Amino acid sequence: MADNFLLRPVQGIKMVGPRRAVTLQKLGIFTIKDLLYHFPRRYEDRTRLRPAGACAHGESVTVRGTVLTAQDLKPKRGLTVTKLAVHDGVGIFYAVWFNQPFIKKNLPRGTSVFITGKVEKGFGATQVIVEEYEVDDGQDSLSAGRLVPVYPLSAQLNQRLLRLMVKTALDGIGSSGEFLPGEIIRKFALPGFAEAVSDIHFPVGLSGAESARRRFVFEELFLFQLALAVRRRHIAGRRKSHRYLPEGKLLKLFKKNLPYQLTAGQLKVWEEISGDLEAPAPMNRLLQGDVGAGKTVISALALLRAVESGLQGALMAPTEILAEQHYLGMKDALESIGVQIGLLTGGTKKKDRDELLRRVREGELQVLIGTHALIQEDVDFQKLGLAVVDEQHRFGVRQRATLEHKGHYPDTLVMTATPIPRTLALTLYGDLDISVIGELPPGRRPVKTFAVLPSALPKAFNLIREQAALGRQAYIVCPLVEESEKIDLQAAVDLAENLARTELKELRVGLLHGRMKAEEKDEIMASFRRGEIKVLVSTTVIEVGVDVPNATVMLILDADRFGLAQLHQLRGRVGRGSHQSYCILLASPKTEEGRARLKAMTTTTDGFALAEEDLRLRGPGEFCGTRQSGLPEFKAADLLRDWRVLETAREEALNWVKQDPLLKKAESQALLSEMKERFGAAGNFIGVG
Ligand code: ADP
Ligand code: MG
Repeated sequence: MADNFLLRPVQGIKMVGPRRAVTLQKLGIFTIKDLLYHFPRRYEDRTRLRPAGACAHGESVTVRGTVLTAQDLKPKRGLTVTKLAVHDGVGIFYAVWFNQPFIKKNLPRGTSVFITGKVEKGFGATQVIVEEYEVDDGQDSLSAGRLVPVYPLSAQLNQRLLRLMVKTALDGIGSSGEFLPGEIIRKFALPGFAEAVSDIHFPVGLSGAESARRRFVFEELFLFQLALAVRRRHIAGRRKSHRYLPEGKLLKLFKKNLPYQLTAGQLKVWEEISGDLEAPAPMNRLLQGDVGAGKTVISALALLRAVESGLQGALMAPTEILAEQHYLGMKDALESIGVQIGLLTGGTKKKDRDELLRRVREGELQVLIGTHALIQEDVDFQKLGLAVVDEQHRFGVRQRATLEHKGHYPDTLVMTATPIPRTLALTLYGDLDISVIGELPPGRRPVKTFAVLPSALPKAFNLIREQAALGRQAYIVCPLVEESEKIDLQAAVDLAENLARTELKELRVGLLHGRMKAEEKDEIMASFRRGEIKVLVSTTVIEVGVDVPNATVMLILDADRFGLAQLHQLRGRVGRGSHQSYCILLASPKTEEGRARLKAMTTTTDGFALAEEDLRLRGPGEFCGTRQSGLPEFKAADLLRDWRVLETAREEALNWVKQDPLLKKAESQALLSEMKERFGAAGNFIGVG
């Protein structure tokens, strides 16, 4: 059968023997289909080859010519310049290589060759600094007189060989290989599989290559969105074994005791969450809200709702400091209304841990807050109804799933302050419903942000002293490349000691970093929270979640060493109360990008705007470590460029699943197997089929 041809090992092509197969494997090519999906990184226009002499200085060109003479020059130690005189039919130019003396052997006199590189002109001679070359045997129509594909390669392969392999593969597929339904192909005016795969490798014109690319981008994003849609359906089809009772006395009391009114945004998301809890299928929701928007209280409401219904709730946070903060923040309010709450972190003592786990197992403890420690094997809940994951981008998809497995389809609420651009949210969390708290609580003033040179440090200390005199507090953050780097850590230690002796000697200065013992950290944070420590010198351990509304100054040293998302999170530690707050970014940025980031920070406090800017500056792959978040690597699609296609693909995928929820229709079969082929092995995170 024709389809089998595509899935055959690449050795099925006659010029591929065992050795070449191994080489191809290094490029991720195992099957003939993989070979065909190894797309060119660009095309070279060899339809109109020009003589080198006709090109301008600095131009990039491909020239065909015949090698005349070769010469090695050694202008200085360690440098060999190889120059070949090449006749291109009109005149002579010199092709130039650096430190590749073997070139002479590869290209003996009389060889016909394609040379690609940059033209240099001076003193009448034309030189081409060679980037790539290819021997032209005059027979190979794949490499001349057309748009020629240029592939990503590894050492033991060359362009011509790869072109030949691809061409042979193309000759074998006939009209097979299509898996997109005709309906979709027509709707989006896409080329069919055979046409597209031929055009992406050997296009007749650039427009053919472009429409082929459009198809591959679409199919990739469509299949991905389809997989997410199927997973969504799958989850929605589950039935949880627990039920929630209507809101009762506990919630009423808790709300009454709150020192503030919930904002309209908070009320709206609470309604959405309540709706999910009451539904027969488990909740699978992302709660998004900028730093300081007030997500914690929403999670408390949900946890209480579970407790009221005779269920247990868990809240997982990425750092001990944050877990502790949540615990302390909820403890009094919950215990005062009779709810049993506990804290479990890596630092919890064995004896306490055993007792805690027993109470969790027997259902006595109703709310358990903690770090990764929550998902360890011996943590057994009697009846876990709700799992909340705070700052969820800090966790992998697998950790989220592990917590879910502690119950029988518990409701899951994941929260993030990372303002994920819509584009990425759709991609990363296409299997989740999304709720957004769109505003901050009333009375907040935008944090005044200044980017200043290191010489302005004394002024920053003045500000800290002034604010301290008003009763406020400050953070000073030192960058650490890695928490584990001793030298960097020492810098923070020294700074704290130094400040306590000199500039800030009249203030109490504390130090916090990730390598301290849990108890030490707790003590320092508690003292800062009580307002005893006025200035907290810290590493980025305070980056997420920490909430001390009395702190009004955030001074960040070497601010250009942080990413935008991180700077925004750090700034979010201040401006949490009604006092005017300040963020001082101290840096002398060395790169254009560094400058752009600081500029963005001083022009907006809107997390979403910053996220879009970050995406623009760094590209989606870099954005807040999405790589760890289970985002697959796309072959054809580029989320930055193709986000419109992503949205279309998503709509279409949802549409398709609506018509054919179980992918049972005849047209869905090819889609289903293609989807499994692409995402099945790569990780069950999609969990299809
Ligand atoms: P985040 O969304 O970043 O997790 P938090 O839940 O830590 O934010 O809340 C930030 C601060 O705002 C906390 O001090 C919290 O008590 C306060 N807060 C939350 N909701 C409101 C509200 N509706 N009105 C006033 N303050 C609020
Ligand atoms: Mg938070």
